Amino acid sequence: MHIHSALSPCGDNDMTPNNIVNMALLKGLDIIAVTDHNSCGNAGAVIRAAEDRLLVIPGLEVESSEEVHIVCYFPTLEAAECMEKEVKGALSAVKNRPEIFGDQLYMDENDEIIGTEEKLLVSATALSVYDIFGLAQKFGGIAVPAHIDRTSYSIISNLGFIPPDISAPALEITDSGREKLMPDYPGRIILTNSDAHYLENIAERKYYLDLPRKNAQTVVDFLCINNQNIFL
Ligand SMILES: [Zn+2]
Ligand SMILES: [Zn+2]
Repeated sequence: MHIHSALSPCGDNDMTPNNIVNMALLKGLDIIAVTDHNSCGNAGAVIRAAEDRLLVIPGLEVESSEEVHIVCYFPTLEAAECMEKEVKGALSAVKNRPEIFGDQLYMDENDEIIGTEEKLLVSATALSVYDIFGLAQKFGGIAVPAHIDRTSYSIISNLGFIPPDISAPALEITDSGREKLMPDYPGRIILTNSDAHYLENIAERKYYLDLPRKNAQTVVDFLCINNQNIFL
């Protein structure tokens, strides 16, 4: 539930909507989320490419003013786009230099390139961690601190702790840190995702959500609820 498409400059250009969907199916996944840096611009194309073969949650990985990465999931593409509008407005006007950072490609559901993003997407926004949690909630979504065990761009590395006054019922921990860190966060849902930037990094099915229905609203609702040890 944390995959970058070719829109992220650090994402491989082979991360096209159909390649992502087909690789996810090959890996046995039922649910994925497309979470490009500060944008949901390719989420719709991946949703359409998947048709009814795979649930694709629209999302984005927002970088806060404190350089903390937070993945945000939404029940609908429209809600994700409302979030993106706020995030884009808070993004610095620095232009992408593809030769340094990589291409930022918009694609359709046939993997045709339909445009490029001019603004550099991999940079901090003017939104604080608090702003991002507030906005995600405002648009009916859920904010999840990303890869909290990494030594950069994580809430723990940059703030030192999870502020007690934000409601963060779900956290993302990498596969290597999961076992060691899970006991430190009782009562929270722990997501472990590939954060894939290349097709070969899309993970095989290893963890699962026990959901009553397979749709984006149900996933968002589930992540909002404080259920200990339900995600295994
Ligand atoms: Zn990240
Ligand atoms: Zn990421």
